[in-house]
Amino acid sequence: MPVQFLKGVGPARAKTFAQLGVQTVGDLLEYFPRDWAFTPRAVKINQMRPDRTATIVGLVESTDYQTFRRRPIFETMLSDETGMCRIVWFHGGFLRDQLRPGQVIMASGKVTSYKHQLQMTNPKFLILDKKYSKPSEYFGGGIYPATARLSSMQIKRIIRPVLDNLDELVDEFYDRKFLKKNSLIGRKDAIGWIHLPPDEERLARAKRRLKYDELFLMQLGLALRRYRCKHCSSSAPMRCSDEIDHRIRKRFPFLLTADQDNSIAEIVGDMCEAEPMNRLLQGDVGSGKTVVALYAALLAVANGTQVAIMAPTEILAAQHFLSIERYLKNSKVRRVLITGGLTGKKRTELLGQIAGGRMDIVVGTVALLEKDVEFAKLGLVVIDEQHKFGVHQRAQLRKQTTPQCLGLKATPIPRALAMTAFGDLDVSIIKHSPPGRGTVITRWVDRRDQQKAYEFIRERLKAKRQAYFVYPRITNTEGDGRDSIGIKAATDGWKNLSGQVFPEFSVELLHGQMPSAKKREIMAEFRRGRVDVLVSTVVIEVGMDVPNATIMVVEGADRFGLAQLHQLRGRIGRGEAKSYCLLFAETESEIAKNRIEIMTRSNDGFQIAEHDLRLRGPGELFSARQHGLPDLRIANIVEDYELLVMARKNAFELVSQDPALAKGEHKNIREALLAKFGDSLGLADVA
Ligand code: ADP
Ligand code: MG
Repeated sequence: MPVQFLKGVGPARAKTFAQLGVQTVGDLLEYFPRDWAFTPRAVKINQMRPDRTATIVGLVESTDYQTFRRRPIFETMLSDETGMCRIVWFHGGFLRDQLRPGQVIMASGKVTSYKHQLQMTNPKFLILDKKYSKPSEYFGGGIYPATARLSSMQIKRIIRPVLDNLDELVDEFYDRKFLKKNSLIGRKDAIGWIHLPPDEERLARAKRRLKYDELFLMQLGLALRRYRCKHCSSSAPMRCSDEIDHRIRKRFPFLLTADQDNSIAEIVGDMCEAEPMNRLLQGDVGSGKTVVALYAALLAVANGTQVAIMAPTEILAAQHFLSIERYLKNSKVRRVLITGGLTGKKRTELLGQIAGGRMDIVVGTVALLEKDVEFAKLGLVVIDEQHKFGVHQRAQLRKQTTPQCLGLKATPIPRALAMTAFGDLDVSIIKHSPPGRGTVITRWVDRRDQQKAYEFIRERLKAKRQAYFVYPRITNTEGDGRDSIGIKAATDGWKNLSGQVFPEFSVELLHGQMPSAKKREIMAEFRRGRVDVLVSTVVIEVGMDVPNATIMVVEGADRFGLAQLHQLRGRIGRGEAKSYCLLFAETESEIAKNRIEIMTRSNDGFQIAEHDLRLRGPGELFSARQHGLPDLRIANIVEDYELLVMARKNAFELVSQDPALAKGEHKNIREALLAKFGDSLGLADVA
């Protein structure tokens, strides 16, 4: 039923409600308060204490409206069996029609002292002799996210009568046994209490149940998405033999680590089944994911199919191509890098080769998803930093055929995100990096120690080591120029470093707005060791692999997020030598200080990711919509982690037992799922 037919809602209010996402009475019941108030316990007048809030019940002895003051006041004297109390309301003229001697009122507000007498100023009050005046409903209940057109109190008045009909309006999802086992209360009670909690304890139980439901439905959606991906589409199963395995491993000039071997075993297991792989490989920068991805790629090629490897930017795509080239020297595998710069006849020719199946591995950016790139037989798609590709684009790619899909992710995913944002994927983890990596020492450097730091760096540069200097932005004059004051910029830094600080070394500038050719040239020079210091923005965040670069300075380190700092730091410590990460920062922000301190304490990407999530809260890291998931109204994936785990287990179990949710006892769940998440999860056909 549309909300418009509720008492107190006309067409205009219905529109306002629609803007709040509330169309139906069902939506209204799930328009949860953002906070709650409880009826305060009343005290006697002689128990009031100054500077506290108090609630009293008493008889209105007299009223008076005084307009001769600068601020007109409405005043009453209230009495109970213990004494008398003056109550004033500034600008209280409107009360003349409401308060009269002889009424009994409940008043709740701040107690102040005036001329040695206790009084109450501007309290909330309720006249108790009216027929339906229930103090708990007036003083207590939900405080709703409101708008200028619709106040929290108005929303509360509209919802209140609806709560009398919950029996008809609310369906239970689970049977008694399940509720009991998991200490969950019934859904009807939960909805009633969330809007009008009798006390804190029952509010807590209501929240728990509703959070659980929200997380459960989300996990159910993910479980169904995963199930469908696995069972409703198929890809040609690949074959892997000892011979193929041997041939691929011969390409790598080192033994694979145990983590790499395990990941490969999982990936090969997926690829050899008819159900398409949908796996995410996660591991810190430099942990050896590229090698694992290349293994998968070569397996696909050995099975006569093509591979697309995609990175978020052209620099990264080029970097991938380069490292692949290193391993594929003298190999017959046909591979190509497709960039935006590739145009005209050359492009047409290459696209023809891809479409004709005469190209095995194609590396590029999202451009590979453009319509003009067609594959003859796409067997595997590798997507680097998958979260940067929209769900939509991924779906588009899947449409062509059903290739195996492997995502790579360098920023470790906190557990809560692994279960939601990536909750429909299988995950392989590389925890330990290959041996032979030098330690990275991280220090926080403030301005007083800056000169010392420069001297320290000079010594390393003299010893033929290389350094990165990273800045939060390119220039300070660009764009709107607004909050640019005090933020360090790469161009200024480069002038200072090359002219004043390190004039005897080769210092080069690299940033995203430079032409691609120029960028490639500078990166190549740095890789060859002809450039000593590379000054840049975060373009080097991912992809650069120069073991001789053992120093990284991050200027304005307080401006970077934890994950980003950790990613940046991954650029050093790639060789055997000890590396140094110097974080330059002056900041008063507690969060920024916290971040920098965590960086100096930990090198473990997973640990850092968990801290990051906790510091920032899920709102910033986890936009549900971006991952094609419904927004969460009441649950918080970090704070409610235990409920999330429980919901996930139960949801996945349910789907394995009843993948179509066709059983009678699952009817309510199915309906709720479709109503709530049908669109965002693309589950319209579940029913
Ligand atoms: P990621 O893609 O996770 O950032 P890479 O696959 O690029 O990591 O590997 C980082 C570096 O480690 C590369 O120089 C690579 O040659 C090297 N490497 C990868 N695996 C091993 C291994 N098992 N033993 C030694 N070195 C390795
Ligand atoms: Mg890599």
